[in-house]
Amino acid sequence: MRSKLRLEGYRRGIIALAKAESLPTVLFLASTHYYENMTMRLMTTKTVLNTKERQRSREWYERAQQSLIEGVNSPSRGAAVYSPGPVVLERGHGSRVWDLDGNEYVDFMMSFGALIQGHAHPKIVDVVSQTVAKGSHFAAATPAEAEAAERFTRLVPTAEAVRFTNTGTEATMLALRLARAHTGRTKFLKFEGHYHGWYDPYCLNGHSHPAEELGPRENPNRFPDSEGIPASVFDDVVVAPWNDLEALENILRKCGRELAAIITEPIMANMGCILPRDGYLQKVCDLAHHYDALFILDEVVTGFRYAPGGCQEYFGLKPDLSTFGKALGAGFPVGAVAGPRTILERMRWGNNMVLHYGTFNGHRLTMSVIAANLDLLGANEAAVYKQIYEIGNSAIAGLRQIFHKRKIAAIVQGFGPMFQIYFTNRDAIHDYRDYCQYANTEKYSRFIHALLERGIYMTPSNGLHWIISTAHTMHDVEILLAAADEAGADIA
Ligand code: PMP
Repeated sequence: MRSKLRLEGYRRGIIALAKAESLPTVLFLASTHYYENMTMRLMTTKTVLNTKERQRSREWYERAQQSLIEGVNSPSRGAAVYSPGPVVLERGHGSRVWDLDGNEYVDFMMSFGALIQGHAHPKIVDVVSQTVAKGSHFAAATPAEAEAAERFTRLVPTAEAVRFTNTGTEATMLALRLARAHTGRTKFLKFEGHYHGWYDPYCLNGHSHPAEELGPRENPNRFPDSEGIPASVFDDVVVAPWNDLEALENILRKCGRELAAIITEPIMANMGCILPRDGYLQKVCDLAHHYDALFILDEVVTGFRYAPGGCQEYFGLKPDLSTFGKALGAGFPVGAVAGPRTILERMRWGNNMVLHYGTFNGHRLTMSVIAANLDLLGANEAAVYKQIYEIGNSAIAGLRQIFHKRKIAAIVQGFGPMFQIYFTNRDAIHDYRDYCQYANTEKYSRFIHALLERGIYMTPSNGLHWIISTAHTMHDVEILLAAADEAGADIA
């Protein structure tokens, strides 16, 4: 049976090859048929974790609002996204989390992707307790930071060296400062719908807006994402639509020589999960270099997720600088900037240096976690990625079948470690504009709320994405599909 499925998969792959599709597309198509069939078998078992009342979540949320704005520390966690208020979580283990009322959920959000090893991985718990017992942090040189850096530079193809920060935001902030110092230019280009953290100049056109307000592709209307940012900050920011080479070329013709950098996410992860068109990223890199600007790949979401060396390994890219966060720290706050010494050496102390300070940089506890995390990810020739891909592809194939069976107009975009569902009549969402126009985000929210009632933990924000960690199992996929089948009936 399996070999027959594989043969059909190979057949699809060969057809794609004949059509001159890219290698990732070929491999993906080759595997899809196999997963579709495997998932059909998984779906025969019904396992739904029904959740009880969430009385204590409600009470706690009321209480938290007395002292915290919106009862949380980031709007994405409060009532702006969860209705009528958040599920308040108390405990996590492996792929599971438990709320204050003792309800159990399979967690597919995984701390926005930070928890690549799931919750409370025994090796991480062990490293944390051993390290902290001897002091959490010294803000002084430690072996731990070099041990983390050695593993990092071994895995990330373009990392001759690395500088650790505390968050992804700090990493992209530092990357821009380095790019400006290196090129002697001030402006930079970002893409519509890409999120690079909350540093002032990046807060432009990051949120969705009604499609009719977006303006022409080659001169998009500009929407600051936040109050409190001087308008002059945005004078240095050029905005372009993503996945559209023609528009980019035209925009660059006007301002390319003024740019310090073009920054892009390799896979758009802040409008769900939007894949680059074949060859697009390499072309963006070539265009940046044509204008002597740096190509910054923001791998905060994709780093250590698609491959040990992130999307630069997966797509074979050579960014001048790349930024990391999330999965790098396996649940601990960290970011990183990687690149060649010619650029990173600009941080070396002296006249004309690029300043980067931080009490918590190279935090000892976090550095020990990174070393353990990267050892786990790299072990046995990174065998764990095969498992992540199999589980993710099964979930994707199963969800597609459910939507097909229930005649729900929805697509599941992405592959392996990360994906997103869009309720839409379109075949694909290619960019921010498609997302603003065609993704029914209200329906998505209803679907996720229906899943939350059935023991699946996920954020109801369509702008985020489903994450597969090393802790997920095929049984978790089974639970997801059974719950999704019921939730699908709710929203049909
Ligand atoms: N870049 C990207 C692509 C991100 O998705 C994020 C966070 N979602 C950041 C940067 C900022 O990272 P952090 O939240 O750790 O500051």
